[in-house]
Amino acid sequence: MIKLVKSPLCEMCGKKPAVSFAWFQDHDRPITRPNGKWMATCFCTSDIEDYYVTFDLYFHGKKEQNDWDSHLYRKTWFDNADWWKMLGRLQEQRAIKDSNEQPTAIG
Ligand SMILES: [Zn+2]
Repeated sequence: MIKLVKSPLCEMCGKKPAVSFAWFQDHDRPITRPNGKWMATCFCTSDIEDYYVTFDLYFHGKKEQNDWDSHLYRKTWFDNADWWKMLGRLQEQRAIKDSNEQPTAIG
């Protein structure tokens, strides 16, 4: 499971904290194959994004995150490599962290 540590900066305007994962379709390519680009954005992309998942929903809990992951994986246009590239950028900003690591102190 991935946890949101702090709000990353919007990858579109670079001015405000991002609030969602936004997907932008490449209209010159078919959506029956992996397509488009994922970015973490604020509300500045509301009118131009083709799909989005808010951080509130995605990071709500383990179950929600699993549900969203399987929901997205079922979409023909979902580009898993690009999704992880985006998560990698957020990780570089230290905005998210993978909490699958073993806890250091048990009991
Ligand atoms: Zn923005």
